[in-house]
Amino acid sequence: MSGTAGSATIDCDVLVVGAGPAGSVAAREAAVAGARVVLVDRRPRVGKPARCAGFLPAAAARKLEFVQLPVLQQIETMEVRTPGGSRLRLNSPGFIVERELLDRRLAAAAADAGALLITGCRARPDGAGADCRRAGGEGLRIDAPVIVGADGPLSPTALAAGFKRQKCVRAAQVTLDPGGGGRALEIFHEPVFSGGYGWFFPAGDSCRVGVAVDGASGITAPEAIKYLLGRVSGRLPRGRRLLATTGGLVPVSGKVSPGRGNIILAGDAAGLCHPLTGAGIAAALESGAMAGAAAAGAAAGDTGALERYRRELAEIYGSALERARERRKEIESSRRLDALTFSLAVRRGWALAGKGAERERHDLNALNLENV
Ligand SMILES: Cc1cc2nc3c(=O)[nH]c(=O)nc-3n(C[C@H](O)[C@H](O)[C@H](O)COP(=O)(O)OP(=O)(O)OC[C@H]3O[C@@H](n4cnc5c(N)ncnc54)[C@H](O)[C@@H]3O)c2cc1C
Repeated sequence: MSGTAGSATIDCDVLVVGAGPAGSVAAREAAVAGARVVLVDRRPRVGKPARCAGFLPAAAARKLEFVQLPVLQQIETMEVRTPGGSRLRLNSPGFIVERELLDRRLAAAAADAGALLITGCRARPDGAGADCRRAGGEGLRIDAPVIVGADGPLSPTALAAGFKRQKCVRAAQVTLDPGGGGRALEIFHEPVFSGGYGWFFPAGDSCRVGVAVDGASGITAPEAIKYLLGRVSGRLPRGRRLLATTGGLVPVSGKVSPGRGNIILAGDAAGLCHPLTGAGIAAALESGAMAGAAAAGAAAGDTGALERYRRELAEIYGSALERARERRKEIESSRRLDALTFSLAVRRGWALAGKGAERERHDLNALNLENV
């Protein structure tokens, strides 16, 4: 590099914008392949605050052998509840992870592989790199022939590549101690949770209760949380304390936006968050690894690498997201109809979303786990 983190201009092979799961994995992969990588995040501390319920499917956990997974709770099943008392039970092997710690470990792994990590650095990407504003107010120019946009739902890199802002629903979540125990994720579909649903996830000694809604039924995310807490409070131990609150945006467009020119996008920035379940960590990790390899290839002179990445991303995710989008539409249009029609639409949608995990069996001994 022709500069240091404190200088006004840095020159590198690959600029990665955003040190969430997608960006850190991309930066690590590109650095391991020999590229000079700069990874920037606007937050002063990677992963903080965590805007996540932390469910990581076991299939995605298996690909993270290079970090210890900070596990709060092992999960076996998912129960999807609909009005009228119907329940759909799905196999759902995985873990509730401590997201802040996971993000920090992934970013540290990227730095260990040789990427230069700059936090507190808000990037405004363009076709040749990014103008950045650092926490103290000073500017920084990063020049790079290849840019990986892994900057989440509102991705400025996606906007710079000419993509429209994604449609998102608003999520809110509380962490309560003690929780209710168990190894099942619980999903609550109620007519008032317009555009989304509620969840109750066990997380070690505590639990996470959250909702995501689009506001169309006139209920805000905090109001929806109160409603859901009323529904589940009978099952929670007495004397519980509120440990944390969080929230955030969950993209529901479900359209792959893989990038353009010398920009490639990964994770939520690429539109990979599942429009029905709101799950995005697994896709962020997978697309991040693919993006990092493609970026390093392009930096080393492989002129087709970025275009191949974009094509492969669309091939892997395009039709699955489209099907999920259709199921989501079906659920939303039946929300105001009778309970049976609504329940059937929910069951069809979630059965499809959970299909891949039905036959999965995992050897936990093969995973790099740490109970936290
Ligand atoms: C409340 C909530 C609960 C969720 N629960 C789950 C769950 O249980 N399981 C699951 O799979 N998914 C869940 N999700 C979705 C999941 O969190 C995302 O899909 C996942 O974080 C996507 O990872 P990413 O790396 O693409 O983006 P992000 O994790 O959003 O990371 C993007 C990074 O880019 C940085 N950034 C943004 N703009 C700039 C800029 N201009 N310059 C520099 N840096 C920038 C941000 O600071 C951030 O660190 C949840 C989402 C919410 C909101």
